[in-house]
Amino acid sequence: MVLYSYAGKILRVNLSNKTVKAEDTRKDIAQLLLGGNGYAAKILWDELKPGTDPLSPENKIVLMTGPITGTGAPGSGFWEACFKSPLTGVWGESACGGWWGPMLKFAGFDGIIIEGASKDPVYLWVHDGEAEIKPAEGIWGQTVPKTEEMVRKEIGVPQARILSIGPAGEKLVRFAGIAVDLERYAGRKGGGAILGSKKVKAVAVYGEKEIPIAKPAEYGKALKECEQAVYASLSSGGGFPNGTIGGYDACNQFGDLPTKYGETGSWEAVSELYQNFVNKYLVKNRACFGCMQACGRVSQVKEGPFATPVYGGPEYETTAGFTTFMLQKDIEPVIKANYLCNIYGLDTISTSHMIAFAMICYEKGLITTKDTDGLEVKWGDPDVVIKLVEKIAKREGFGDLLAEGVRRAAEKIGGEAPKIALHVKGLEMPYHDPRAGKTQAIEYGVSNTGMDHFHAHETLDVECYGADLGLIPFGLPDPKTIDRFSEDPSKASIAKLVMDWGTVADALVICKFHQYVNLGPDKYAKLLSLATGWKIDGWELLKIGDRIFNLARAFNVREGIRRKDDMLPPRIMQPATTGSTKGVGITNYEAMLNEFYRLEEWDEDGIPKPEKLKRLGLDDVASYIASLKA
Ligand code: SF4
Repeated sequence: MVLYSYAGKILRVNLSNKTVKAEDTRKDIAQLLLGGNGYAAKILWDELKPGTDPLSPENKIVLMTGPITGTGAPGSGFWEACFKSPLTGVWGESACGGWWGPMLKFAGFDGIIIEGASKDPVYLWVHDGEAEIKPAEGIWGQTVPKTEEMVRKEIGVPQARILSIGPAGEKLVRFAGIAVDLERYAGRKGGGAILGSKKVKAVAVYGEKEIPIAKPAEYGKALKECEQAVYASLSSGGGFPNGTIGGYDACNQFGDLPTKYGETGSWEAVSELYQNFVNKYLVKNRACFGCMQACGRVSQVKEGPFATPVYGGPEYETTAGFTTFMLQKDIEPVIKANYLCNIYGLDTISTSHMIAFAMICYEKGLITTKDTDGLEVKWGDPDVVIKLVEKIAKREGFGDLLAEGVRRAAEKIGGEAPKIALHVKGLEMPYHDPRAGKTQAIEYGVSNTGMDHFHAHETLDVECYGADLGLIPFGLPDPKTIDRFSEDPSKASIAKLVMDWGTVADALVICKFHQYVNLGPDKYAKLLSLATGWKIDGWELLKIGDRIFNLARAFNVREGIRRKDDMLPPRIMQPATTGSTKGVGITNYEAMLNEFYRLEEWDEDGIPKPEKLKRLGLDDVASYIASLKA
């Protein structure tokens, strides 16, 4: 029976015994959890033993598309990597654009489960409903661009799309990312290290299979309506026409640009930086499959010590991390650091975070030149920044400590370092400041992936920048009426709604930036219904988001996560010292958290109640949770 809008098969690759097997995509799972993070959560819940070492052969990584991937729907060029994170030890997921996801589906697969570990380096060649495990000895050790070039040459299919890791993934840097199409990254939480631990250097995909659509004519019509909605939004200033880096100045004005390792949320010294980037370094814009926004940026530093080839980026997060967070005020070192991270396969957020962490530890005398290979790790020194990126990627000297991530590094450094470290559940803080919009504090605390601004979603965009994400018909107050500084417990309902909707995006699997351009739950529900032949509305989609979020929470509970792990680091709760958030701290966090737990139907220790899980159709999960209390 045709499972409309899905490729219908999931590839299981066991590297220990070198087997590949195509399994049917299960309709029961698809209807309950769609694809992406939802389908993957079910696989990892069923197949992963609690306590599994993330870098052991027993861990699995699931690379998933979703039901509308590759169908031409707005933002449908995404794919998701899901795994138990080597950085946090809990649920890890990372979303990524480009063209690799649709191509995997055209090759005949909704996803790939990679399990076991190879003794020798390999790459996977997935094409036309088949898959091969190929030796990669000659490619191991290469950068991301060189890997793409070599794999493409070896398979002889220029149109193939390549997913790969760089040397950082091979060296098991705990925040190594996974690249596709050279510069698009499933960057966070260490998926690259998992592939490295399994000795998988790349996954090449190519195919021309059509994706079956249940009601093709009506689907085409609905796509046109969506396109018109997107154009209307873009032409009235919505979306991301200036790329994510285009929001840099606004973040600075709103106190949402973490500065000096989170001491504050704005810095006057960078007020010219964005315009300087546009005037002198921006080469062109770039789009993923199925995108009308083209938020990607391509840039170059033509000469001097920070010279780079023309390369993708930098995005907002990278720019914030390599500027204000470490008190570095120039764009050229950012472009260079971004380029190096991309070719070595490093997450730019955690990499810049670790360098800034080293700077504050150095300032406080917690580390000295004896620890740093003789480097004076002073705030904002661009030469030191570049040297540390190299050291982290190669795990050289001091870089080996930083490659462990902030929680482990802080514990090793000792003294007050663990108190300074900005992380939740071991994931380094990204570059949005929860003092600028207090709902973000809740998200940072309860996100299943740790201190994450985009999983499940970025609530600051609602509170600071007026995005309604199409959620007003579903109970979101008009963003203009929300007091961003309020810590009233009712903020929890905003957090829940926005996070459920963000979770849906990662299950559909779509680019979340399309939720900003007039495409709310009803529009995507209509597309999903016409593509699959199911009857589903916006409310049902949000319920699916709730289900997946709670399944991932249960996964974390099984790994030992409790309320204590939902606390925020003290440094980010202290009053900011500059700009529009000067004097603003976070003072009522636990009351907001209590209300979030109440809305989620979690007990006082943050464990989902079995009756709620049952209501969500997660009976086996409910039984497990009930057994914890027996
Ligand atoms: S908005 Fe940006 S990230 Fe999203 S699909 Fe378009 S180019 Fe890709």
